[in-house]
Amino acid sequence: MSAEESDDEPTVPIVCEACETTSRVPLSELRESIDRHNEHRHDGEEIAQVDPVLADALADAVADDLGLYDDDA
Ligand SMILES: [Zn+2]
Repeated sequence: MSAEESDDEPTVPIVCEACETTSRVPLSELRESIDRHNEHRHDGEEIAQVDPVLADALADAVADDLGLYDDDA
């Protein structure tokens, strides 16, 4: 479970409706990449975002990881 400097780090698709672009970035650079894009292209407006489909799955996975759905705890 080492997350920080893995070579096969999972990448996450970022979608920007305004630019009509999709790009993949490493998970660890996700927030930064979105911020940078929105800062530079859209005056800080939060237009670019994680692919909504994946965002849902990711949220579930993270919640699962944190044990938020563990009723037995
Ligand atoms: Zn954009």
